[in-house]
Amino acid sequence: EATEGGVPLSRIAELAATEADIFRRARPKSEAAVGNGMAGFFNGVPMHWMKDWPTPFPILVDKASGATITDIDGIRLADFCLGDTGSMFGHSPAPVARAIRRQAARGLTYMLPSEDSLTLGLLLARRFGLPHWQIATTATDANRFALRVARAITGRDKILVFNGCYHGSVDETMVRLDGGKPINRPGLSGEFRDLTQRTRIVEFNDLAALEKALSHGDVACVISEPVLTNSCMVLPEPGFLEGVRTLTRQAGTLLLIDETHTISTGPGGYTSKHNLDPDLFVLGKPVAGGVPASVWGMSEEVAARYAAYNATKEPGYSGMGTTLSANPLQFAAMRATLEEVMTEAAYAHMEKLAERLATGLDKAIRKRKLPWHVMRVGARVEFIFAPGPLRNGGEAEHAHASRLEAAMHVALVNRGVLIAPFHNMMLVSPVTTARQVDKLIAAFDDIAARLAV
Ligand code: PMP
Repeated sequence: EATEGGVPLSRIAELAATEADIFRRARPKSEAAVGNGMAGFFNGVPMHWMKDWPTPFPILVDKASGATITDIDGIRLADFCLGDTGSMFGHSPAPVARAIRRQAARGLTYMLPSEDSLTLGLLLARRFGLPHWQIATTATDANRFALRVARAITGRDKILVFNGCYHGSVDETMVRLDGGKPINRPGLSGEFRDLTQRTRIVEFNDLAALEKALSHGDVACVISEPVLTNSCMVLPEPGFLEGVRTLTRQAGTLLLIDETHTISTGPGGYTSKHNLDPDLFVLGKPVAGGVPASVWGMSEEVAARYAAYNATKEPGYSGMGTTLSANPLQFAAMRATLEEVMTEAAYAHMEKLAERLATGLDKAIRKRKLPWHVMRVGARVEFIFAPGPLRNGGEAEHAHASRLEAAMHVALVNRGVLIAPFHNMMLVSPVTTARQVDKLIAAFDDIAARLAV
């Protein structure tokens, strides 16, 4: 019989059917409200991925606080999705909620700085090591703007990504390897350009391929996460990131490190813990504690080159902006997050419980003799339905087990825990409790026992 993740498809289908039924029966109010979609929205949802969750209908949230989400049927879930990182420091952290309340009485957007911004620039420079910062609203935009600077100052029109990457909906990063050949990422809507014309792509952990791709001398920037967190979870092999830094320098190519997910590593991200020394740095999602905001930073050299470039170029629209970016609500929320939420103490708690989670899941996998593995980068943990470790995005694609994943996620929800959709990612926040972690481990073990042959 065909299998996914070593589990017969019939067994997965049986679990999926049982769990869908349990989910539905527990939520009469939710089903009445959203079981047939939400009126007024295309496809019944305000944002397409609300429908992409594997539950029979979306979990209609009443409220979230700490690391707990409560739906309108009064069901409480230990939340390990945490808004897919936007709320990785817990829902509405008290200092951020206070900052929002304070700013709410003083105006929400002006296109002018506020006093919080005087502190913010210094906080960013001190924390992440790069001296020159700009504020945007999404990590997607921060990446787009940083890439624009890279192309501007190098005068090169290409970028390079690693197969399996995700940096937001940045068009030029939407490239994949298909049997070694670059193609547009399958599934893109309305994309008529051949994105591979200006984007080179190689596998993660392959320095020889990177060296070859950079040897043409036409790549402005390599954009990468330090760990591939959007293709299962692929860790850099020893020496890989050092190699990337050396090869990019040799080729006159800039290095953009996207820390949006790997900020789970510590208060200064993976960059600070491992001395990555990037030219450009991006962080979005949780940097304002859940208020939409992102930051991008430039090294001294990049900033000087960009200033020189601007001095010679035609004055005019730079292609960077968005009206609501760098607003006083973002400044207030970011300042509160950096000063009071993203602390060493918070990370110590996250690290300790994430370790407990990874160890517990690993034990359950061994006990049930399933061909799966667990990976962790700081507070971010992932279980993967294949033996590991995986080396690159190509291997990660093969490890993807969509039916098994969907059944597992609904089964977890029915046991009181929520994990991120579309892969098996779990985040531990500063307000996540050991009880919640143990609940997740027990739920996972119970489901694994049902799946094991
Ligand atoms: N960078 C990385 C590494 C991401 O994982 C994501 C989103 N998952 C983004 C950027 C984009 O973030 P946003 O959707 O908030 O723009």
